[in-house]
Amino acid sequence: MKIDLTGKTALVTASTGGIGHAIAYGLAESGAHVVLNGRSQASIDTAKAKLLERLPDAKFSGIPADLSDAAQTQALIDALPPIDILVNNAGIFGQVDFFETDDAEWDRYWHTNVLSGVRLSRALLPAMVDKGWGRVVFISSESARNIPADMIHYGVSKTAQLSLSRGLAKRVAGSGVTVNAVLPGPTLSDGFATMMEDEVKRTGKSLEELGKAFVMAHRASSVIQRMASVEEVANLVVYVCSQQASATSGAALRVDGGVVDDIV
Ligand code: NAD
Repeated sequence: MKIDLTGKTALVTASTGGIGHAIAYGLAESGAHVVLNGRSQASIDTAKAKLLERLPDAKFSGIPADLSDAAQTQALIDALPPIDILVNNAGIFGQVDFFETDDAEWDRYWHTNVLSGVRLSRALLPAMVDKGWGRVVFISSESARNIPADMIHYGVSKTAQLSLSRGLAKRVAGSGVTVNAVLPGPTLSDGFATMMEDEVKRTGKSLEELGKAFVMAHRASSVIQRMASVEEVANLVVYVCSQQASATSGAALRVDGGVVDDIV
């Protein structure tokens, strides 16, 4: 199967690092013009330079915006070219006990992980429907189904993305636009590397080793028994965005290494 996204323009939110960066690479490698997003112009410039080193002929542009903020999200929407593919990847995570999670923290998670995708989908889906082709992907998490007791607010936000994705797929039924959610499991992203920085220094172990120990301690149902790479997650997302994935819509697709202990 050859995935060809020539002529398509994709917005990948939070694509200056982590999973989003790998998705941006994968879509651009398949021929799409990718609009990068991060919170600063400097982070976009660095990400763009890194991508162009590996894909010198690819087309990237970038718009800075903090997507937890409605006004900045609107400014990004106003600056966008016509978008065929929207990947709602922006998301924050971190362990906070339920009894220490105040309203402000709940709001922060809701705005960043859920409302960012609501606002962008509301703005961009109508033109995709008019065109008769489009792809919207929400980067959810296995935590949408295995609600982690040490980050309930995160789990709630990720489950909400599944409702949103399924609802939107039905809302644009029959239009040629697909809407799906992708559920990664523990993934060796920049965010995870930052979380483990002290541990790497303290133990002298590699990030991969610590990742494997993390999986065995906290996600023991993992079938692959290791963290996934960001590229492994991006591969599924690129497929979902492809022409070939036209019969997949309203789905919650796992790339979680089998962490969710279920047959579907
Ligand atoms: P990451 O922390 O490695 O990268 C996130 C990027 O988002 C960074 O470049 C950061 O600067 C940017 N960003 C953060 N807040 C932003 C905001 N408000 N507006 C714009 N940009 C912002 O994260 P990641 O691990 O790649 O996670 C990406 C997505 O994947 C998230 O939605 C996360 O919930 C999901 N996910 C991650 C894992 C994992 O193990 N890493 C597992 C399941 C799901």
